[in-house]
Amino acid sequence: MNGLAYTRMTTSPEATKQLASTLAPYLHEGDVVVLSGDLGAGKTQFVQGVAAGLGVRDQVTSPTFNILLEYPEGRLPLRHFDLYRLEDEAELEDIGYFETIEGDGVSFVEWGEKFPSALPFSYLEISIMLDTDGNRHVRAQSCGDRARQLLFVWANDSKSRL
Ligand code: ADP
Ligand code: MG
Repeated sequence: MNGLAYTRMTTSPEATKQLASTLAPYLHEGDVVVLSGDLGAGKTQFVQGVAAGLGVRDQVTSPTFNILLEYPEGRLPLRHFDLYRLEDEAELEDIGYFETIEGDGVSFVEWGEKFPSALPFSYLEISIMLDTDGNRHVRAQSCGDRARQLLFVWANDSKSRL
């Protein structure tokens, strides 16, 4: 089955968070979302919006130094990875990456595309591009059947206007 792709422009961090929060109701246990884009593109802002949509009250900060931060108190446990500082794919085992993404929560992985062979069978890719005016182009693309279904329902949510 072919993948789906949608792009939407956001002009403020709040708009990126708002867009991200509309994804939250459609997430299922085991879903994986890979976030790509330059440093400062807005990947962590996106995860903050998802967390708000899941009902996480704790402040969501960048896991750049911790690699993994977990937020168990929302509708589904949220696992937030940032693989930027990881140099070797073998380190993924050490941080429990595979058990975590196959586990009971939803996983958001910044820089997940760095290790393509470690990506799950199905995942949603969110790529955020900054243009010369400072606006963000948030592109959502599905890989595999589950992500396609997720993106389909999200894109048909009138509030998301994807
Ligand atoms: P990343 O995780 O991709 O490195 P962050 O989400 O940590 O990036 O940071 C994005 C920065 O860009 C924040 O300081 C945020 O306030 C700013 N920003 C400006 N416009 C936007 C936008 N439209 N969407 C997201 N972030 C934006
Ligand atoms: Mg980040």
